[in-house]
Amino acid sequence: MPPLPVWFRYSPKNSYSIAALLPLVEAGLAREPRSGIMLYSLATAQAEEVYAEVDRARSVGAVDAVYVAGGPHPSALPEEALEHFDFVVIGEGEETLPELLRTIREGSNPSAVSGIACKVEGLVRITEKRPAVNLDLYPPFSNILAPIEISRGCPWGCTYCQTSRLFGTCMRHRSISVIERYARRHKDIRFTSPNSLAYGSDGRKPRLDKVEALLKALAGQKKQKPIYFGTFPSEVRPEFVTQEALELITKYCANKSISLGGQSGSPAVLHRIGRGHGREEIERACELSLDHSLVPQVDFIFGLPDESVVDQRLTLDLVRWIVSKGGKVRAHRFTPLPGTPLWGRQAAPLAEDVQASLGRLALEGRLTGSWSRDHSHE
Ligand code: SF4
Repeated sequence: MPPLPVWFRYSPKNSYSIAALLPLVEAGLAREPRSGIMLYSLATAQAEEVYAEVDRARSVGAVDAVYVAGGPHPSALPEEALEHFDFVVIGEGEETLPELLRTIREGSNPSAVSGIACKVEGLVRITEKRPAVNLDLYPPFSNILAPIEISRGCPWGCTYCQTSRLFGTCMRHRSISVIERYARRHKDIRFTSPNSLAYGSDGRKPRLDKVEALLKALAGQKKQKPIYFGTFPSEVRPEFVTQEALELITKYCANKSISLGGQSGSPAVLHRIGRGHGREEIERACELSLDHSLVPQVDFIFGLPDESVVDQRLTLDLVRWIVSKGGKVRAHRFTPLPGTPLWGRQAAPLAEDVQASLGRLALEGRLTGSWSRDHSHE
């Protein structure tokens, strides 16, 4: 009997995960459930829709499939995901997924596979945790091009963020030679990282020698291509933005901007969410970036739990200061994410004057994002 075909449920929202896992799994791409083994990677924003799709496919019975979920949402809530799926891959999929697929195809005991959740005689069983993977052993992509993931894991554990919970607090890095090899396939070179300027470091203390070695190697490639570092889809922590760091970016990269995680203008909120930096670091990073002709693009979260009107006005002041200097701001509404300390917490209501000011800044084209249920300006 031929082995069960494997399908990744493709959507533009999960293309980076599929790009990373496709080289490890012989699978096709599907835009709807197909018979065989159906793989889904999902974040919280997609959970409801994905669960409904899987439930529909199961109830109609036209698709004979085993359903496997992975990604940040099922990893944090495996019991919930198992109400819809047969298996959950918890955390990193590089080693777990190929082993689970082999087990399913061979019909052997899935509880022997580390790093998964499944149901055994109706009860949820979570198997032994798997150690973090060595990124160099796995390609960042194959057929589907994606920005190169240079680092994984983050020591900061900000209370609203899933990164440290999903990938651990120990920062790991791809080696320069592997990054170089995959960069040859890109027309312009972009990266993903919890903090690009932490490349080569423990995530707390920069190792600019390692950042320079990386950028120098990429800039020295035979076929020269623009390099974008510390910009979308990655960002940098403000205290990593120093004169020396920016000199490296302006020397080797094509950036005209730099993406900074600011999150709040209130020292009390920054402290509460465990950012490990204050408001001054955000201001200094913006000023230094502008001095180096890089437009700071700063992310802020509005409505963090227990945020007072005073906190919100402090953030708004900082937003105004940044745009007055020529920077840009992207505002987000707080969304509780499973697996984080703020899961289950309500977003604080947004003060009317703050909401109105954000709306005015958006209309003037100086702010983008989505900071309340009714306002979204992309
Ligand atoms: S928000 Fe950034 S710095 Fe904080 S834990 Fe997440 S990735 Fe790390």
